[in-house]
Amino acid sequence: MDVLGLGADPVAADALVCSAKGCRADARWGLLWNNPKLHTPDRRKVWLACDDHREHLEQFLGARSFWKRTVGVDELERA
Ligand SMILES: [Zn+2]
Repeated sequence: MDVLGLGADPVAADALVCSAKGCRADARWGLLWNNPKLHTPDRRKVWLACDDHREHLEQFLGARSFWKRTVGVDELERA
């Protein structure tokens, strides 16, 4: 159930780790994104980010026009 209406895929219920390559830091942010070539318009994929990688990952997704918004991990639905 998507109680928050974010439309985002649920994330793991246990420890959330940054999605950046090689990073094992605790995630503090969820980056919601959509690739219109792969996903229906209301689908939101989620990348997790620590403080250090949030900006880098946002820029990566933003450069491809995939980035939609960033929310705190507490706002993400847990699986
Ligand atoms: Zn990181």
